[in-house]
Amino acid sequence: MAEGEDILTWQKVELCTYCGEPTGFAGKGEDSLYLDNLGPWCQECYEVARYAYNHAIDIAKNATKQIHEQQRERVKKLKGELAICCYEFEALLEMFPQTANILLTRIAVIRSLGIAELEATDA
Ligand SMILES: [Zn+2]
Repeated sequence: MAEGEDILTWQKVELCTYCGEPTGFAGKGEDSLYLDNLGPWCQECYEVARYAYNHAIDIAKNATKQIHEQQRERVKKLKGELAICCYEFEALLEMFPQTANILLTRIAVIRSLGIAELEATDA
């Protein structure tokens, strides 16, 4: 490499899908950070997105449990969690529009399936 030559010109550098900075990882199939098929992420963006992602997964798991248990009190709690989650994702929308929109869509699906069924059996 000639003196002063940019390392980026000969070595492929993986960039974060969201902030555009180098991720510092080797690439897909190596040690790169992905959430499902979303990514690659730098460490900082990954931590924020993973928090939101895991939160959505937890809510999905709770919704599934609720369908079997059919307990009115817990349905109320779950609906509260969903409301909080949607509120949090509104803040994320500004930081990570694409990811936040995907997660909001998933929550809408969970709400339309799980909660609607519970409300029907609730009566
Ligand atoms: Zn990033």
